[in-house]
Amino acid sequence: MSTIRVAIDGPSGAGKSSLARAAAATLGFLYVDTGAIYRTVGLSARDRGVDPGDGAAVAAMLPALQVELRYDGAGQQKMFLNGRDVSGEIRLPEISRYASAVSALPVVRAYLMETQRELARKNNVVMDGRDIGTVVLPDAEAKIFLTASAKVRAERRCRELEERGTPQPFEEVLRDIEDRDFRDTHREAAPLRQAEGAALLDTSALDFQQSLEALLEIIQERTGL
Ligand code: C5P
Repeated sequence: MSTIRVAIDGPSGAGKSSLARAAAATLGFLYVDTGAIYRTVGLSARDRGVDPGDGAAVAAMLPALQVELRYDGAGQQKMFLNGRDVSGEIRLPEISRYASAVSALPVVRAYLMETQRELARKNNVVMDGRDIGTVVLPDAEAKIFLTASAKVRAERRCRELEERGTPQPFEEVLRDIEDRDFRDTHREAAPLRQAEGAALLDTSALDFQQSLEALLEIIQERTGL
Protein backbone atom coordinates (compact mmCIF):
# COMPACT_ATOMS: atom_id res chain seq x y z
CA MET A 1 0.00 0.00 0.00
CA SER A 2 1.42 3.38 -0.89
CA THR A 3 1.76 6.04 1.73
CA ILE A 4 0.57 9.64 1.81
CA ARG A 5 3.35 12.21 1.86
CA VAL A 6 3.08 15.83 2.89
CA ALA A 7 6.22 17.86 2.11
CA ILE A 8 6.72 21.20 3.82
CA ASP A 9 9.66 23.46 2.97
CA GLY A 10 10.54 26.99 3.93
CA PRO A 11 13.14 29.21 5.60
CA SER A 12 14.13 28.95 9.26
CA GLY A 13 11.68 30.30 11.80
CA ALA A 14 8.63 30.20 9.51
CA GLY A 15 6.88 27.95 12.03
CA LYS A 16 7.38 24.81 9.97
CA SER A 17 8.18 22.47 12.86
CA SER A 18 5.33 23.40 15.18
CA LEU A 19 2.80 23.58 12.35
CA ALA A 20 3.99 20.36 10.71
CA ARG A 21 3.92 18.58 14.08
CA ALA A 22 0.38 19.80 14.81
CA ALA A 23 -0.82 18.89 11.31
CA ALA A 24 0.71 15.41 11.64
CA ALA A 25 -1.02 14.91 15.01
CA THR A 26 -4.37 15.97 13.53
CA LEU A 27 -3.97 13.60 10.57
CA GLY A 28 -2.45 10.72 12.57
CA PHE A 29 0.71 10.87 10.40
CA LEU A 30 4.35 10.58 11.44
CA TYR A 31 6.08 13.94 11.75
CA VAL A 32 9.65 13.98 10.42
CA ASP A 33 11.79 17.00 11.25
CA THR A 34 14.67 16.72 8.77
CA GLY A 35 16.41 19.83 10.14
CA ALA A 36 17.04 17.81 13.32
CA ILE A 37 18.89 15.22 11.24
CA TYR A 38 21.20 17.88 9.72
CA ARG A 39 21.66 19.39 13.17
CA THR A 40 22.81 16.02 14.49
CA VAL A 41 25.50 15.82 11.81
CA GLY A 42 26.44 19.44 12.62
CA LEU A 43 26.74 18.61 16.31
CA SER A 44 28.98 15.71 15.51
CA ALA A 45 31.31 17.99 13.50
CA ARG A 46 31.52 20.36 16.44
CA ASP A 47 32.16 17.55 18.94
CA ARG A 48 34.95 16.15 16.80
CA GLY A 49 36.51 19.52 16.05
CA VAL A 50 35.78 19.12 12.32
CA ASP A 51 35.46 22.27 10.18
CA PRO A 52 31.82 22.01 8.96
CA GLY A 53 32.72 23.71 5.67
CA ASP A 54 35.49 21.24 4.85
CA GLY A 55 33.82 18.66 2.60
CA ALA A 56 36.65 16.12 2.77
CA ALA A 57 36.88 16.28 6.57
CA VAL A 58 33.11 15.98 7.02
CA ALA A 59 32.95 13.10 4.51
CA ALA A 60 35.69 11.29 6.46
CA MET A 61 33.64 11.64 9.64
CA LEU A 62 30.35 10.23 8.23
CA PRO A 63 31.09 6.46 8.31
CA ALA A 64 31.63 6.64 12.08
CA LEU A 65 28.24 8.28 12.65
CA GLN A 66 25.12 6.50 13.67
CA VAL A 67 22.28 9.01 13.28
CA GLU A 68 18.98 7.61 14.46
CA LEU A 69 15.43 8.94 14.76
CA ARG A 70 13.36 7.46 17.55
CA TYR A 71 9.84 8.31 18.64
CA ASP A 72 8.89 8.42 22.31
CA GLY A 73 5.54 7.31 23.73
CA ALA A 74 4.00 10.70 22.93
CA GLY A 75 5.07 10.44 19.28
CA GLN A 76 7.81 13.04 19.81
CA GLN A 77 10.84 12.72 17.51
CA LYS A 78 14.13 12.23 19.35
CA MET A 79 17.58 12.33 17.77
CA PHE A 80 20.28 9.87 18.78
CA LEU A 81 23.91 10.21 17.83
CA ASN A 82 25.87 6.99 18.33
CA GLY A 83 23.34 5.94 20.96
CA ARG A 84 23.29 9.27 22.84
CA ASP A 85 20.10 11.37 23.04
CA VAL A 86 21.11 14.75 21.56
CA SER A 87 17.57 16.14 21.08
CA GLY A 88 18.21 19.09 23.41
CA GLU A 89 21.78 19.87 22.41
CA ILE A 90 21.05 20.17 18.69
CA ARG A 91 18.81 23.19 19.37
CA LEU A 92 21.70 25.41 20.53
CA PRO A 93 22.18 28.45 18.22
CA GLU A 94 25.79 27.43 17.62
CA ILE A 95 24.58 24.12 16.20
CA SER A 96 22.24 25.95 13.79
CA ARG A 97 25.34 27.39 12.13
CA TYR A 98 27.08 24.02 12.02
CA ALA A 99 23.93 22.42 10.55
CA SER A 100 23.64 25.09 7.89
CA ALA A 101 27.30 24.61 6.90
CA VAL A 102 27.29 20.79 6.73
CA SER A 103 23.94 20.78 4.92
CA ALA A 104 25.52 22.68 2.01
CA LEU A 105 27.76 19.67 1.32
CA PRO A 106 26.42 17.27 -1.36
CA VAL A 107 28.09 14.35 0.43
CA VAL A 108 26.01 15.02 3.55
CA ARG A 109 22.76 15.42 1.59
CA ALA A 110 23.38 12.15 -0.27
CA TYR A 111 24.21 10.38 2.99
CA LEU A 112 20.91 11.44 4.60
CA MET A 113 18.63 11.00 1.57
CA GLU A 114 17.82 7.32 2.00
CA THR A 115 16.97 7.70 5.69
CA GLN A 116 14.38 10.32 4.77
CA ARG A 117 12.91 8.43 1.82
CA GLU A 118 12.66 5.20 3.78
CA LEU A 119 10.60 6.89 6.48
CA ALA A 120 8.18 8.13 3.81
CA ARG A 121 7.94 4.69 2.19
CA LYS A 122 6.96 3.05 5.47
CA ASN A 123 4.71 5.72 7.00
CA ASN A 124 2.22 8.41 6.11
CA VAL A 125 4.36 11.44 6.81
CA VAL A 126 4.41 15.15 7.26
CA MET A 127 8.07 15.90 6.56
CA ASP A 128 9.58 19.35 6.83
CA GLY A 129 12.89 20.79 5.67
CA ARG A 130 14.39 22.77 2.81
CA ASP A 131 14.35 20.35 -0.13
CA ILE A 132 11.59 17.89 0.69
CA GLY A 133 9.25 18.92 -2.16
CA THR A 134 12.08 19.64 -4.59
CA VAL A 135 14.49 16.73 -4.04
CA VAL A 136 13.59 14.20 -1.34
CA LEU A 137 9.88 13.63 -2.14
CA PRO A 138 9.19 15.46 -5.43
CA ASP A 139 6.11 13.26 -5.99
CA ALA A 140 4.59 14.04 -2.60
CA GLU A 141 0.78 14.21 -2.65
CA ALA A 142 0.87 17.63 -0.97
CA LYS A 143 3.71 20.14 -1.20
CA ILE A 144 3.69 23.40 0.74
CA PHE A 145 6.16 26.28 0.83
CA LEU A 146 5.70 27.87 4.24
CA THR A 147 7.20 31.29 4.83
CA ALA A 148 6.97 34.58 6.74
CA SER A 149 8.94 37.83 6.67
CA ALA A 150 12.44 37.73 8.22
CA LYS A 151 11.35 40.22 10.91
CA VAL A 152 8.34 38.15 11.98
CA ARG A 153 10.46 35.00 11.99
CA ALA A 154 13.12 36.66 14.16
CA GLU A 155 10.46 37.83 16.63
CA ARG A 156 9.08 34.31 16.88
CA ARG A 157 12.55 32.79 17.33
CA CYS A 158 13.32 35.31 20.12
CA ARG A 159 10.19 34.28 22.00
CA GLU A 160 11.07 30.62 21.57
CA LEU A 161 14.65 31.13 22.83
CA GLU A 162 13.37 33.06 25.81
CA GLU A 163 10.91 30.29 26.71
CA ARG A 164 13.80 27.81 26.54
CA GLY A 165 15.78 29.94 28.96
CA THR A 166 18.42 30.89 26.35
CA PRO A 167 17.42 34.46 25.34
CA GLN A 168 19.33 36.28 22.60
CA PRO A 169 19.19 39.91 21.39
CA PHE A 170 16.73 40.53 18.53
CA GLU A 171 19.39 42.03 16.21
CA GLU A 172 21.57 38.96 16.58
CA VAL A 173 18.69 36.57 15.92
CA LEU A 174 17.61 38.56 12.86
CA ARG A 175 21.15 38.61 11.46
CA ASP A 176 21.43 34.88 12.03
CA ILE A 177 18.16 34.24 10.19
CA GLU A 178 19.17 36.46 7.27
CA ASP A 179 22.58 34.77 7.03
CA ARG A 180 21.03 31.33 7.05
CA ASP A 181 18.39 32.37 4.50
CA PHE A 182 21.17 33.55 2.23
CA ARG A 183 23.21 30.37 2.61
CA ASP A 184 20.18 28.07 2.26
CA THR A 185 18.91 29.78 -0.91
CA HIS A 186 22.28 30.38 -2.60
CA ARG A 187 23.99 27.06 -2.06
CA GLU A 188 24.57 24.81 -5.03
CA ALA A 189 23.32 21.58 -3.44
CA ALA A 190 19.53 21.50 -3.09
CA PRO A 191 18.98 25.25 -2.54
CA LEU A 192 15.83 26.32 -0.74
CA ARG A 193 13.12 27.23 -3.24
CA GLN A 194 9.41 26.71 -3.77
CA ALA A 195 8.90 23.30 -5.40
CA GLU A 196 7.00 23.03 -8.63
CA GLY A 197 3.34 22.57 -7.79
CA ALA A 198 3.80 23.60 -4.17
CA ALA A 199 1.19 25.79 -2.47
CA LEU A 200 2.57 29.01 -0.99
CA LEU A 201 1.54 29.76 2.59
CA ASP A 202 2.77 33.06 4.09
CA THR A 203 2.07 33.16 7.83
CA SER A 204 3.40 36.70 8.51
CA ALA A 205 -0.05 38.00 9.39
CA LEU A 206 -1.50 34.78 10.81
CA ASP A 207 -1.41 33.42 14.34
CA PHE A 208 -0.68 29.76 15.03
CA GLN A 209 -4.28 28.55 14.86
CA GLN A 210 -5.00 30.42 11.64
CA SER A 211 -1.79 29.08 10.08
CA LEU A 212 -2.67 25.52 11.10
CA GLU A 213 -6.16 25.82 9.63
CA ALA A 214 -4.76 27.18 6.36
CA LEU A 215 -2.18 24.38 6.25
CA LEU A 216 -4.75 21.63 6.92
CA GLU A 217 -7.02 23.08 4.27
CA ILE A 218 -4.25 22.85 1.66
CA ILE A 219 -3.40 19.29 2.72
CA GLN A 220 -7.04 18.19 2.59
CA GLU A 221 -7.53 19.84 -0.79
CA ARG A 222 -4.47 18.10 -2.22
CA THR A 223 -4.84 14.63 -0.68
CA GLY A 224 -8.63 14.41 -0.61
CA LEU A 225 -8.45 13.37 3.07
O1 C5P B 1 15.04 23.43 10.13
P1 C5P B 1 16.27 23.71 10.95
O2 C5P B 1 16.51 25.17 11.19
O3 C5P B 1 16.31 22.91 12.20
O4 C5P B 1 17.48 23.19 10.04
C1 C5P B 1 18.82 23.42 10.38
C2 C5P B 1 19.64 23.63 9.10
O5 C5P B 1 19.68 22.42 8.36
C3 C5P B 1 19.05 24.68 8.16
O6 C5P B 1 19.64 25.93 8.30
C4 C5P B 1 19.36 24.14 6.78
O7 C5P B 1 20.58 24.67 6.33
C5 C5P B 1 19.58 22.67 6.97
N1 C5P B 1 18.52 21.84 6.39
C6 C5P B 1 18.65 21.46 5.07
N2 C5P B 1 17.75 20.63 4.50
C7 C5P B 1 16.71 20.16 5.20
C8 C5P B 1 16.53 20.56 6.55
C9 C5P B 1 17.47 21.41 7.11
O8 C5P B 1 19.58 21.88 4.40
N3 C5P B 1 15.86 19.33 4.62
